[in-house]
Amino acid sequence: MLKELVQKFASVREINLMRIKEAKDTGRKVVGIYCTYCPQELILAAGAIPVGLCGTSEAPIAAAEETLPRNLCPLIKSSYGFAVTDTCPFFHFSDLVIGETTCDGKKKMFEIMQDIKPVHVMQLPHLNNTQASFDLWVDELRRLKLRLEEELNVQITDEEIWKAVDVINREKKALKAIFDLNRADPPPISGIELLTVAWSRSFSSNKGEMIDNLNGLVKEVGLQEKTISDPAPRVLLTGCPVGLGSEKVIRLTEELGAHVVAMENCSGYKTLDLQTDTAGNDPIVALAEKYLAIPCSCMSPNSYRLELLNSMIDDFRVDAVIDLTWQACHTYNIEAYEVGKVVKQKGLPYLHLESDYSNSDLESLKVRIEAMLEMVEK
Ligand code: SF4
Ligand code: SF4
Repeated sequence: MLKELVQKFASVREINLMRIKEAKDTGRKVVGIYCTYCPQELILAAGAIPVGLCGTSEAPIAAAEETLPRNLCPLIKSSYGFAVTDTCPFFHFSDLVIGETTCDGKKKMFEIMQDIKPVHVMQLPHLNNTQASFDLWVDELRRLKLRLEEELNVQITDEEIWKAVDVINREKKALKAIFDLNRADPPPISGIELLTVAWSRSFSSNKGEMIDNLNGLVKEVGLQEKTISDPAPRVLLTGCPVGLGSEKVIRLTEELGAHVVAMENCSGYKTLDLQTDTAGNDPIVALAEKYLAIPCSCMSPNSYRLELLNSMIDDFRVDAVIDLTWQACHTYNIEAYEVGKVVKQKGLPYLHLESDYSNSDLESLKVRIEAMLEMVEK
């Protein structure tokens, strides 16, 4: 039954493609997003459908390299490649695309992408603990609201934003409950299953239905018979975002007999503890607080990521940590030094991998992961 439910998530992308096409035919707008810093609540409050556009496949990279440098993060090249080849239907249906000045590669790519689609770029401050950066981010959210209103020809009211805040808060809570199931021993959900659920969710055009499905999955796992403790190593994955198509490290780790019990990255736990506070009067300020707290490596310093990792290692009873950096992602690559220190202080094996979306390094990845797993003391 669990497998069937996860399979249901795997088909979300396909099903929602048809729904989005139908919605477009009736005049509904679609807004494409690339990053967890994008305040989806404003898109929902505008009556539009937010869809995740992050490229996770190697297929369009060659086309992207005709314009972008080869020595660039595969996520950026894949995302741009889908856009320039018009091979991602979700990008195709997007009326507006929203980007942020997170890393240098992405922000410069968004400049070029404007030749293909209208792109609104939010200026993200890289400090999250000063009043000046907070004020800038609040202004950026207000600027996005205005752009959405102009582009989609709607009025976004506070009331609609608060409704959307409630929906996204509930969605995050439901997804967190799924991730938290793996605090148990043995973990009830494999790393690939977790990724399938978390990644597929971003394609859903019906948040209410998605929340019900997420809650249904938690309930189903609760009904399963408990099995005895499992001695297989429990691995936490951190680093750059991973999706279906770029999941090779999770797959290899599990093929080698370990459990990927938790993921700290954007496709995982990074934002799941962050809820928008509903006690204030201004929903834009409340959203700004939540989004600026996201611990991405483009923040400097980025201490909340290290705190989060520290507690996740304990909460998920982790035996080893894999830190995955996509090639040419300087921020995650350099931050690996600090992450390694945290993991080693906890006395655990730490493996930093640098890779791309190709399969050319599968054998060497396998050897390195295997060597790390042998260091796990059980
Ligand atoms: S890793 Fe950072 S830049 Fe990339 S999607 Fe996540 S929050 Fe955005
Ligand atoms: S993985 Fe790194 S380089 Fe690639 S888009 Fe994210 S932050 Fe930028």
